[in-house]
Amino acid sequence: MIRYLERILNRALKGNDLSQKEIYYLLSLTQRNQLKRLFKTADRIRKKFVGEEVHLRGIVEFSNYCRNNCLYCGIRRGNRKARRYRMPPEKIVKWVAFISNKLKYRTVVLQSGEDLWYTKEKLVRIIKEIKKRCKTVVAVSIGERDYETYKAMRKAGAERSLFRFETTNPVLYKKMTGRSFVQRIQHIKWMKELGYQVGTGPLIGLPEATIKDYVNDILFLKKYNIDMAAMGPYICHSDTPLAGRPNGSVEFSLKMLAIARIVCKNIHIPATTALQTLAPLNGRQRALNCGANILMPNTTPAKYRKHYLLYPNKVCIFEDPVACRQCVTQLIYSLGRKIGEGYGHSLKLKTKKL
Ligand code: SAH
Repeated sequence: MIRYLERILNRALKGNDLSQKEIYYLLSLTQRNQLKRLFKTADRIRKKFVGEEVHLRGIVEFSNYCRNNCLYCGIRRGNRKARRYRMPPEKIVKWVAFISNKLKYRTVVLQSGEDLWYTKEKLVRIIKEIKKRCKTVVAVSIGERDYETYKAMRKAGAERSLFRFETTNPVLYKKMTGRSFVQRIQHIKWMKELGYQVGTGPLIGLPEATIKDYVNDILFLKKYNIDMAAMGPYICHSDTPLAGRPNGSVEFSLKMLAIARIVCKNIHIPATTALQTLAPLNGRQRALNCGANILMPNTTPAKYRKHYLLYPNKVCIFEDPVACRQCVTQLIYSLGRKIGEGYGHSLKLKTKKL
């Protein structure tokens, strides 16, 4: 069996595409030495295609109001225990100016629940103001809007979007979110069409997801030429209908990450906060060692941070952004890597425009 594994990995190293069957095989590996080989190969491919730079993206969670009711999510509409907040637009701009101009984050991700209080006009104003005052890339992660809103935000200066598909199994997607999978994918297509660099991927460990679903998740990233494979483990929140379900597995999440690197090659892959939450000692380090090249520290103001609980026990909830910046810098250096100095644009873009 080791021979079969070596054959697949060598083919990947030579730049070949892997078949559905081969990806299935890699996802099913459990033996320690085999996983070691897999992770090592992913690390080699990461080195070759993205180098030693780790890019930082600061996430600002500006509102936890949400019109949706996803079964897994702690800020779902139905969770009466969540204390809701909204950052006023001027405050968002001011805060982004601080983390960009002072802490030198070259990308800021504006994330929220699906909160229509922030109209197209408000979003455009926020983005324009940020682009005027800061040398930063703006990524939006605000869920589903209409085409015109994506277009207006893009025109205002937003260049990236973070928008997970959660699972490529349409039946499971419907069950978990109450929404249409076809519509979700349509939005990804719109964003691509509008020239956004798109980050998407699955929530790993959703109840009832199968290995076959995960194979399709990986193939989706490849097929749609996705710029960032944004995937992380599901963590059970007790104030949701999924209370009591097991968390996603750290090991399996690392496997997904490594395989995404091996299959997609020139793609950005973040080591997620959720992974670090499940493996507080070394989650991010392990991810960076098997394919990841992005860190997305939480840069939400402390006052709001404790209320943006998609899942419980989130790490760094009390850390101030200056300490956090030092902590990630330390982490990156300790692995012998360096902090990306540029904007960390998509590796699939030949020309970049700011
Ligand atoms: N509302 C926006 C963005 C915010 S949610 C959107 O839907 O795109 C960001 C991501 O958090 C979701 O896509 C989901 O994958 C993840 N998430 C939600 N609940 C989670 C949980 N319990 N454990 C881990 N990740 C979760």
